[in-house]
Amino acid sequence: MAKVTIDTSLCTGCGLCEGSCPEMFKITEDNMAHVVSQDPGQCDLSQVAGECPVEAIIVK
Ligand code: SF4
Repeated sequence: MAKVTIDTSLCTGCGLCEGSCPEMFKITEDNMAHVVSQDPGQCDLSQVAGECPVEAIIVK
């Protein structure tokens, strides 16, 4: 399974990833996205990663 991380030095907390895939991403009080699950479920992970305006979603 792909391993997903967020580059918090890039993330602006825009919320797009959480909006597209709330099962995996959550914006917390620090105004940055965090990976809360590695299970993409119904999410199209490559699409969500591609939507991030600052390319902070790293999929390996
Ligand atoms: S889409 Fe990118 S910049 Fe926006 S909250 Fe998610 S990781 Fe951060």
